[in-house]
Amino acid sequence: MAVSYHAADRSELGREQTVGSLLRWAAEQAPDIRALVEGTGEDDARAWTYAELLADAERGARALLGRFAPGERVAVWANNIPEWIVLEMAAALAGITLVTVNPALRPGEVRHVLEQSRAAGVFLLPEYRGNPMAESLASLRADLPELRETVLFTDWQAFLRSGSGTQPLPVVAPGDPAQIQFTSGTTGRPKGAVLHHNGIVNNAQLSYRRLLDVQPGDVCVSGMPLFHTAGCVLVTLSMIGGLGTQVLLPRFDPGLQLRLIEAERSFLFGGVPTMLHAMLDHPSLAATDLSSVRVGLSGGATVSPQLVDRVEATIGAPLLNIYAQTEASPGITMTTTDDSAENRRNTVGRPLPGIEVKIVDPKEGRTPTPAGVVGELCTRGYHVMTGYFDEPDQTAKAIDADGWLHTGDLAAMDDKGYLRIEGRLTEMIIRGGENIYPGEIEHVLQGHPDVADVAIVGVPDPAWGEQVAAFVILAPSATADEQELADFVRRNLAPYKTPRTWRFVGEFPLTGSGKVQKFALRDQLVSERSLT
Ligand code: AMP
Repeated sequence: MAVSYHAADRSELGREQTVGSLLRWAAEQAPDIRALVEGTGEDDARAWTYAELLADAERGARALLGRFAPGERVAVWANNIPEWIVLEMAAALAGITLVTVNPALRPGEVRHVLEQSRAAGVFLLPEYRGNPMAESLASLRADLPELRETVLFTDWQAFLRSGSGTQPLPVVAPGDPAQIQFTSGTTGRPKGAVLHHNGIVNNAQLSYRRLLDVQPGDVCVSGMPLFHTAGCVLVTLSMIGGLGTQVLLPRFDPGLQLRLIEAERSFLFGGVPTMLHAMLDHPSLAATDLSSVRVGLSGGATVSPQLVDRVEATIGAPLLNIYAQTEASPGITMTTTDDSAENRRNTVGRPLPGIEVKIVDPKEGRTPTPAGVVGELCTRGYHVMTGYFDEPDQTAKAIDADGWLHTGDLAAMDDKGYLRIEGRLTEMIIRGGENIYPGEIEHVLQGHPDVADVAIVGVPDPAWGEQVAAFVILAPSATADEQELADFVRRNLAPYKTPRTWRFVGEFPLTGSGKVQKFALRDQLVSERSLT
């Protein structure tokens, strides 16, 4: 009987590359094609050709090397501004590892990222959407002895000027670390996945560039966040490799994305499922000219067959689905325009070239299951992260002795290699494509004096995929109410992690071994809803 194993097809694996060599190649091939456009929709929106992007990146690299040594880590804490991408390229050319930080993070979360990555510098905005980032960082400086330099993006031009000169840039090897992306993996505490140049460059080429068939001058309007691999790896590096133009939204906004797709004639209609729903439900959709769109794209969370149907009917083209995980640089499988409608609706496609995938018995973690039988999805190849930064024990839990990355996702593979994602070994919640780990929120709430115990679960939500719900056992004589606890979480964690549903209970349903039966709590909420 066939087993759930897919061998790597190495025939299309490109040569080993770095982010810098990819950009230099693009600037040589197509100096005058627009590489990057600020997607504000304003008349004064800025743009960079490939020649200009390389020139700024080289100045940025020299400016970085005036402050940092190759191999050091520098964090970027901002929304999708074009300077973010210039800095990504500059760091790559300078051999400096970029640590990407979500602009929604609060001080305690940022401290963990900067401390854990031992960042020597941070580039940041003074403030973003009410998050006083410069103020937060100032309050953390005393706790971060390794942090030497902070540069505000408002001083970016002066920073670039400090890099004029002609001194040679260092040699960067394809296996050198390019980025550290923080992800909680299978446990609650965020860990820094170290991704090397060759992994991210080739992953973007073998997934988006190849399967979306990016051609020189193609325009891609994207609202994917740059702090995640979906933005700064898959979109950015595939567009550079295809000599396309990236129109970068400052943040996802369905109305703006639709307006820019029409105005810039984007070939792509893409986003995590929550973003696609928001665009499909937007009042301006009906009047938007989508005639330039030749393909749709989603992933990052479960893409329902209904969503595939709705997008395909709207754009008149196939919707592709990528299954990705940060630790895998990030693409693992993807559907293609040649796949049957059945496979586009119900699977995440087959493994990308150069990548091995197997589904193993989750209990012993090694033996492939028979085809069609659910188990844990494991993957091996050029794309697997180097490890979690400075966390050898966590790395050893994620990557086994034979080099297989254990994703924590439950999946089934059919005898043709198509995969269906069936759930997660962990209790991770995915809200609008953002992963949320119950343990992190539980930990914060357990620090509130009125909370005796707490269990966080995800509940299905039509718009967000899942939402966060909190079950709380209050301490005797507690006075805190829902509002106070929600404010407490909000002060400590990024807003998207704040529970939307609260239940105050006297006890939790427990398993025989005393663990909270989270599925029972989740079922309780689902059945409450179906009664209303
Ligand atoms: P991240 O590391 O933030 O990219 O999150 C990765 C996780 O998102 C995976 O381990 C899956 O649980 C989930 N995921 C990503 N892509 C898909 C997809 N196409 N379908 C279902 N789940 C997905």
